[in-house]
Amino acid sequence: MRRTLWFLLRLGLVVALAVWVAQRPGTLRLDWQGYIVQTQVGVVAAALLVLAVVAYVLVRLFLLLWRSPRRFGAGRRTSRRTRGYQALSRGFLAVASGDTAAASRLADKAEALLNEPSLTLLLSAQAAQLAGDEAAAAGHYAAMRDRGAALKQPDMAFVGLRGLALQALAAGKTRQALELAQEAQALKPKARWPLLTQFDLQARAGDWTAAATTLDALTSAKALPPETLRRHRAALLVERSRAAEAEGNQDQALALARKAHDLEPGSVPAAVQAARLLAATGSARAATRALEQAWRASPHPDLAAAWGAAGEKAGDAADPLARVKRLEALVAIDATVPEAHVALADAAVEARLWGLARGHLTRALTLRPSARVYRRLAAVAVAEHGEGPEERGHLAQAAKAAADPAWVCRSCGGVNPAWGALCAHCGGFDTLAWRLPGGAAQGSVPAETLGFLPPPEPGAEGGEGAGAGSRLSGRLPSFTLASLRPGRRS
Ligand SMILES: [Zn+2]
Repeated sequence: MRRTLWFLLRLGLVVALAVWVAQRPGTLRLDWQGYIVQTQVGVVAAALLVLAVVAYVLVRLFLLLWRSPRRFGAGRRTSRRTRGYQALSRGFLAVASGDTAAASRLADKAEALLNEPSLTLLLSAQAAQLAGDEAAAAGHYAAMRDRGAALKQPDMAFVGLRGLALQALAAGKTRQALELAQEAQALKPKARWPLLTQFDLQARAGDWTAAATTLDALTSAKALPPETLRRHRAALLVERSRAAEAEGNQDQALALARKAHDLEPGSVPAAVQAARLLAATGSARAATRALEQAWRASPHPDLAAAWGAAGEKAGDAADPLARVKRLEALVAIDATVPEAHVALADAAVEARLWGLARGHLTRALTLRPSARVYRRLAAVAVAEHGEGPEERGHLAQAAKAAADPAWVCRSCGGVNPAWGALCAHCGGFDTLAWRLPGGAAQGSVPAETLGFLPPPEPGAEGGEGAGAGSRLSGRLPSFTLASLRPGRRS
């Protein structure tokens, strides 16, 4: 409507102008270099109008021709980018849905259409991995690392390094994985996976000192829950104390063990290690105090055994009666703890006090029936009366009784004969918990979430270990889930 009005207005103006010129007739005369042109004013006005229109049309035509190639090129580039990003997003979806053929086709397409190496290389690497071509994937990840460094794009280099590190871990190349994780950490000091990977590899290799340094970095990066960090630190301290003791460095061993015990007073291995070293230096009272503290948190047989041995001088023959007396004090702390009665019964058996042994084993049974208490009763029956129906009765009960708790790996479910910072089956660090074996294997639980798992049985930690040499000796049948965890020792 407005356009029409505007048009009519302009038309009116032109007509008015034409009428105005027509009502004022006259002639124009041009005299130039001997040429003479004489014409009506109306004709001149009409000619000027036609000239203006032609000039306008020519300018518009020229501008259109001048701009069109650029406009055409820009349109083409936009369409290329759009198709490239479409290929990229569909490619990542194909990877996620496991469509090998589509993934590699779309990866090639995206790479041809887009100049976004951080994204197209990642898609190509993932597509190659999906197709099982690890070498090609490694090439793409390495390209990401190198081009990221060259283009000053640490994010791209970091992703490339992660891909390479995961490949190295899967292939069991732990040294290479460690170096890649260190390189990635240099790019992003607070990032989680480089630190966790380094810590896991160092701990699995038994490099306790390096693992302790990495644990400091993990702590300042707040990469794990505080209780997990504390438990890991205590486990490392116990292992470092054991290593120092094995090297004959008793003072350092004791200092490390006390640190572990102070950090985690409820930890069985820390208390046992500290108590044993304290007792060796003649501090039987301090040893008993450490054991009592852990015992109140988790009454564990290893603590009872260390308690029984706490007053004995190294090298002297053990006095069974003195041991019985010491363990009576342990029972006195809390008489409702079956472990205390079992430990006292064991000391009584050594002292050949059959009645006392039988009494405490029976008491332990009323508190919690268990296979190993029935087996001990059978042994007492044999020692006292020889083989017979009483022994067989206890053994039959033992076969029916509930299983006893053991050092079970939270990661692979394997049962370890003694506590160690590393699982003897899967090599996982700080995965052992004192609990009932069987049915509770959590092979797929990522290591970093394990800290949230509550201890299902009294006594979540600790125990006297069998020493670093025997932990990974493989004399126990390997648990099947252990093979699911990549990156064991190289
Ligand atoms: Zn394990």
